[in-house]
Amino acid sequence: MAEKIQAVKGMNDLLPPDSAAWEWFDEAVRRVMRRHGYQFIRTPIVEPTALFVRGLGEVTDIVEKEMYSFEDSMNGDRLTLRPEGTAGVVRAVTEHNLLYEGGKRLWYAGPMFRHERPQKGRYRQFHQVGAEVMGHAGPDVDAELILLLRALWRELGLVVGEGDGAYLRLELNSLGEVAERQAHRAALVAHFEAHASLLDEDARRRLHSNPLRILDTKNPAMQPVVEAAPKLIDFLGEASLAHFNAVRAVLDAAGLPYRVNPRLVRGMDYYNLTVFEWVTERLGAQGTVCGGGRYDGLVEQLGGKPAPGVGFGIGVERLMLLLAEAGLLPAPPAPDAYAVVTEAGALPQVLVALDALRAAGVSVLLHPLGAGGPASMKSQFKKADASGARFALIFGADEIARGQVALKPLRAGADAAAAQALKPLAGIADWAGELLPA
Ligand code: ATP
Ligand code: MG
Repeated sequence: MAEKIQAVKGMNDLLPPDSAAWEWFDEAVRRVMRRHGYQFIRTPIVEPTALFVRGLGEVTDIVEKEMYSFEDSMNGDRLTLRPEGTAGVVRAVTEHNLLYEGGKRLWYAGPMFRHERPQKGRYRQFHQVGAEVMGHAGPDVDAELILLLRALWRELGLVVGEGDGAYLRLELNSLGEVAERQAHRAALVAHFEAHASLLDEDARRRLHSNPLRILDTKNPAMQPVVEAAPKLIDFLGEASLAHFNAVRAVLDAAGLPYRVNPRLVRGMDYYNLTVFEWVTERLGAQGTVCGGGRYDGLVEQLGGKPAPGVGFGIGVERLMLLLAEAGLLPAPPAPDAYAVVTEAGALPQVLVALDALRAAGVSVLLHPLGAGGPASMKSQFKKADASGARFALIFGADEIARGQVALKPLRAGADAAAAQALKPLAGIADWAGELLPA
């Protein structure tokens, strides 16, 4: 036997029956996006490496060590498997002049790639659903995105907020504008320089390149020095504070509790003003299920005409783990009916009949004929039961000869046998509705 080839480490197959839960999630996303007026956008999985280097910033975890970059062997182009969704959307919006007629509300879904150490909730290929609102500078859209996410969590059945029964909670911060961050940065560098002996190697390296990221450290030994650092929020000017307070006022009015977390800085350099995360205590270290924020400078940084932007990205694998933990994943859907066939020669009538049922919206599973002809009734009925179908459709020799099919309820209870009925194969549309769930 030839040697088996296995999937790349950290890149997973999505298999049935688990895939049904992802379809269920996708449908919920679609409904929520449509209700909020967001339009779908799909960009390529491969982009020029420069897009991410320029978009995310050189001194970020992603650009420093997580990107799958390679040279196109045909022409030498430097390419990267996208590690996140925002940069590609911004590129596409700029390239196609989408903001020409005003702002845009967009959403996307698809695989992202980061070369990280695989563990629960952290993979090398993972999936995000995200939204980007471009061309609107006001706090209204920041708040709308956060409320859209709450609507999605509710649609999925997740309880949001603080306390025991809650699965997701909102953390919020403002990163202010460039001048405010510079003033804060100077104070921050002074603080860390004064305590240089308490810094780890990573922090010392970032002290002058990107000191804000030191606040994001996961090193427990550094928590005290980070805790005592100057807070950006104390450096915010009037306009930034007004923006932040306007977002907060909406969340307060909507009864959505949140924590202001001054240490929330997010991984990408491009954020300004509002940043937020939805976190759970139930997934260990991989507790951030969704992150987002405003990026008013990114479009210009990527060569577009200056335009504000704000968005979020959901880590779908982590959300699925959380939904499973919460017992909220639906059972895979069963077919409405299972077709039992005893006559190989009747196959044309059978398939034409199933075609008509399916056209009427009924989901039907056909027992496979196989190379040796129809299996015994007994084994076909066993499969019909296991399929979870509510009805068996029996295409036997007698029924076919009379232009009929026998309909047998599989889950109706004690008098199921009595409820068996013969239905005409001509005019299937007249009775197909009986097979649909109530
Ligand atoms: P983390 O701090 O956990 O590495 P991040 O800040 O790098 O997250 P973002 O770039 O903000 O993550 O991406 C948005 C979301 O995508 C995250 O909140 C998370 O749910 C998910 N995510 C990020 N990286 C991975 C990964 N390697 N595997 C699975 N999900 C991921
Ligand atoms: Mg990361």
